[in-house]
Amino acid sequence: MQANISIWEKESFFAPQDVIIVGGGLMGLWSAIAVKERNAKLRVTILEKNTTPLGASTRNAGFACFGSPTELLHDAQTLGEEAMLTTTEKRFKGIEKITRYLPKHQIDYDPCEGFECITKTQLPSVTIADSIAYLNKLLASITGKQHTFIRNDAALTTLGLQNFDALIQNKMEAGLHSGKLVQALQVKAISMGMQILSGIEVTECLQHNIGVQVHTHQKIVFTAEKVLLCTNAFSNNIATGHTIPVTPGRGQIILTSPIQNLPLQGTFHFDAGFYYWRNLGNRILLGGARNKAFDEETTTELTTTHTIQNALEDFLKQHVHPSIHYSIEQRWSGIMGFTHNHLPYIHYIEPNILVAIACNGMGVALTPIIAEEVANRLLQTNKAI
Ligand SMILES: Cc1cc2nc3c(=O)[nH]c(=O)nc-3n(C[C@H](O)[C@H](O)[C@H](O)COP(=O)(O)OP(=O)(O)OC[C@H]3O[C@@H](n4cnc5c(N)ncnc54)[C@H](O)[C@@H]3O)c2cc1C
Repeated sequence: MQANISIWEKESFFAPQDVIIVGGGLMGLWSAIAVKERNAKLRVTILEKNTTPLGASTRNAGFACFGSPTELLHDAQTLGEEAMLTTTEKRFKGIEKITRYLPKHQIDYDPCEGFECITKTQLPSVTIADSIAYLNKLLASITGKQHTFIRNDAALTTLGLQNFDALIQNKMEAGLHSGKLVQALQVKAISMGMQILSGIEVTECLQHNIGVQVHTHQKIVFTAEKVLLCTNAFSNNIATGHTIPVTPGRGQIILTSPIQNLPLQGTFHFDAGFYYWRNLGNRILLGGARNKAFDEETTTELTTTHTIQNALEDFLKQHVHPSIHYSIEQRWSGIMGFTHNHLPYIHYIEPNILVAIACNGMGVALTPIIAEEVANRLLQTNKAI
């Protein structure tokens, strides 16, 4: 049953749309912008369940990830070299696109460089040299650099890191402010003429002959020619009759109080990305340890747990900063969406309902480029559009 709405609302906020995007995180926002760029006349609305987007995009660590060597090696082994290179190129172009679209100061963009910390048990020294040479050869055509990755063990000491055996550096990676990024994209989206409605929870999307009916918890029924689901880990709640191959993965983070003379500068990865940390000014932001309790962390519950929080604090003391002169000022969690092969999932589940989700743990750099594929697919088959 349609809610008690006025004729004014019906003919403005809730009027029929060409495209409705469900989910106002990075995927939804970049996709909306890409759709409008292809056809400025389209009526586009984003429906977001929460007051502010709430899943991964405003809860992450703010790394514009290029990809760490052990992750790329793992991808090359499991997905093949070509697939690994394709995804890495998307992230490389995604980082470039962020800086082309948004003023760097608006999103606290910091080209701080990325580092991967290695222990002997993970990768013996001789293998590191071979791995760097192998990756650099493959990546040169993407980055235009002979040495995308360089070994820089000496920096372990200057950065204040402990109990690692080697350090690999890359100049591609950057840090940014995830909240400001989402805000900047919202401003851009609205300036392009689309509407963002927050506090609207979609409960069901029903394909009809000529379009889609979008039902909501607020009892407002929207209609659109095409619907794009950018609901990431939460997609299975609304895609009635369809199983979306996405598994939720909670990520937890801690943030320290300011630390005087903090030597840490940059974005850091360890253990194939299971631990990640960076400096935020003179504070340390550290996240991960999901592998300490996989089952418990396979959830959409936005809470923190003792198991993971303790693991993060232990890691902080053991590897990043031994000082007792700080406290943990903030703790939070966010929810990622994972696929089996760790590749994004872009798939029509009905003739007019496209799903674009699962940038896994790397959506900051990936979503700007994935959005272009999504917009192309969304607009390809629609007569009216
Ligand atoms: C702790 C953590 C750290 C991370 N660190 C990094 C990092 O440093 N670098 C990086 O590249 N990536 C990182 N990621 C991953 C990155 O944040 C994600 O890949 C990216 O944000 C996914 O964006 P999204 O729009 O697909 O999903 P989300 O941001 O989850 O957006 C989905 C949106 O859909 C909305 N929604 C859900 N259901 C409904 C409904 N029924 N109706 C309406 N709206 C709905 C939600 O409220 C949410 O706003 C991290 C993620 C986490 C959790």
